[in-house]
Amino acid sequence: IKAAVMDGENVEQESSIEELDRSIAKSAFDILQEDRKTLPVYPYRDELLQAINDHQVLVIVGETGSGKTTQIPQYLHEAGYTKRGKIGCTQPRRVAAMSVAARVSQEMGVKLGHEVGYSIRFEDCTSEATVLKYMTDGMLLREFLGEPDLASYSVVMVDEAHERTLSTDILFGLVKDITRFRPDLKLLISSATLDAEKFSDYFDSAPIFKIPGRRFPVEIHYTKAPEADYLDAAIVTALQIHVTQSPGDGDILIFLTGQEEIETAEEILKHRTRGLGTKIAELIICPIYANLPTELQAKIFEPTPEGARKVVLATNIAETSLTIDGIKYVIDPGFCKMKSYNPRTGMESLLVTPVSKASANQRAGRSGRTGPGKCFRLYTAHNYLHDLEDNTVPEIQRTNLANVVLSLKSLGIHDLLNFDFMDPPPAEALLKALELLYALGALNKLGELTKVGRRMAEFPLDPMLSKMIVASDNYKCSDEIISIAAMLSIGNSIFYRPKDKQVHADNARLNFHMGNVGDHIALLKVYSSWKETNFSTQWCYENYIQVRSMKRARDIRDQLEGLLERVEIELTSNTNDLEAIKKAITSGFFPHSARLQKNGSYRSVKHPQTVHIHPSSGLAQVLPRWVVYHELVLTTKEYMRQVTELKPEWLVEIAPHYYQLKDVEDPGAKKMPRGAGRASS
Ligand code: ADP
Ligand code: MG
Repeated sequence: IKAAVMDGENVEQESSIEELDRSIAKSAFDILQEDRKTLPVYPYRDELLQAINDHQVLVIVGETGSGKTTQIPQYLHEAGYTKRGKIGCTQPRRVAAMSVAARVSQEMGVKLGHEVGYSIRFEDCTSEATVLKYMTDGMLLREFLGEPDLASYSVVMVDEAHERTLSTDILFGLVKDITRFRPDLKLLISSATLDAEKFSDYFDSAPIFKIPGRRFPVEIHYTKAPEADYLDAAIVTALQIHVTQSPGDGDILIFLTGQEEIETAEEILKHRTRGLGTKIAELIICPIYANLPTELQAKIFEPTPEGARKVVLATNIAETSLTIDGIKYVIDPGFCKMKSYNPRTGMESLLVTPVSKASANQRAGRSGRTGPGKCFRLYTAHNYLHDLEDNTVPEIQRTNLANVVLSLKSLGIHDLLNFDFMDPPPAEALLKALELLYALGALNKLGELTKVGRRMAEFPLDPMLSKMIVASDNYKCSDEIISIAAMLSIGNSIFYRPKDKQVHADNARLNFHMGNVGDHIALLKVYSSWKETNFSTQWCYENYIQVRSMKRARDIRDQLEGLLERVEIELTSNTNDLEAIKKAITSGFFPHSARLQKNGSYRSVKHPQTVHIHPSSGLAQVLPRWVVYHELVLTTKEYMRQVTELKPEWLVEIAPHYYQLKDVEDPGAKKMPRGAGRASS
């Protein structure tokens, strides 16, 4: 009896706690609803809905933080648009798609992935119930492949249009085309900056809806002389603000160029604030960059506790994609990482580059959202006026187009030179892309998609990776190759190297490189060893491997396995035949081959250029005569990252249309290695 009573009590207690939870949740929900009404877009809700009703295409302009991304899709949902189909909203950045979807699901009081979801490459958090779908622009582009008229959508909102990413620019052409034969489809182009006329002109003079922003004055400070070390200058500036201004005054936002730099800054800041003593308020450091694990992304939005100050270390992502409330100080070193492409050599590189004036002004504006702000530019006023470009060059004009050309070809768009580009890419870059796809066997001589090309287009990967996978069928090693492709897609965040255990970490890493198998096979070994331990976390710790990255690799691998089935490639394993695996890799990456020079550097074979093996490679000390590499990164030198040894005769065997004997002949050697001549005949 006693037990029953106790149980009863417990139940009662539990239910009252539940009720309490519910009422707290209710009030949090109410607060969110109140917050929604304070956004600059709110007073224009009805007017905006009317304009959307009246026009098929509408360009919407409003400053960052006015509520475009989070509110407009909700308004449309409330107005009944989702009865006819989904509302899709594209974002150039994956973090933005995820974080905005999370926010909107909270505001609507639904579980993320149900009515509100997001879709980014290799991660689909949507369901049958999803009516508001946030996604990267690249994902919507892929959806065209399966649904060329976007029939399941009632509204498409191409958001952050001013970013002019490659995918957004291609989307422009595609959505413009479908509005012609789908009069029921509403198209919204939203942008944070004022060059809206250009969008309007492109979309046949679509009307422009301006959401007046609230903007407080921002005081801009320049340095008197150029800074030699902008990272250090940024940190010093942040600490000066922190110790001289009271913390309740406002938070700090620093724009940096990438994850590594952000991590360095975080470490230095932690170190220096430790020395400040207890009299100084707490400084909460919040990093945000594209690969930041999801669990940590929410932290930047948490309100700063009283008596503390937040310093956000962000990449360009905080320029317009994400709005962090409470920022009063912006520190802008004036740089960002930007892709650049040399169509002559086909080399793509990610370079730290000065921002444009437009960017600098967006950055400064982040400080004046909730009150007067201050922006510290770590460059001179003269620099700003005379050295910065007015606007950032659209990505389409500085990138490798192979991927996009393959997608367009699979959509049946053949005449690329006459595609309706807002700003056309250089013809040379288009030709280069066509050439590469032809070399990979994705296109025939007439520029038509081949069977190989059609299969390649199914994979959401760069064409060389897709080709490697499709080719693995010939070498009966698709099982190994998709593991390698998944591991390559993770980037360089698989191994970690804690400062105090570098020797251990390096040894653990060398284990996978035993026999100088090359980086691709080493990645494969990491994956298969982890799989053998039944995906053990402990094993990752012991081997200085990031569990999180491995889990992501596993997810990606699972999806690639599904896609193999779709293109009817059997999953076959050929673990012991390393040569077969390397040949499959070469089948995709043969354009990336390089030959050792006398001085220890390499020369790329096709478009001669001096390159080096990245110090992190397992082959950095080995220096094989011939290598194939995954990518080039430019830091102090042009480095090849992820390198595998290759036999020169493979090049002629695998890509006889691309390499001739003379390309792979050693000038020093008298005779060609045997076999090469035969393979090419
Ligand atoms: P816009 O698209 O016009 O730049 P948003 O709709 O993104 O504006 O932002 C509106 C408001 O919603 C901002 O005040 C921002 O701080 C808030 N917000 C957006 N995403 C989140 C999030 N993930 N968590 C908390 N607040 C958010
Ligand atoms: Mg937005």
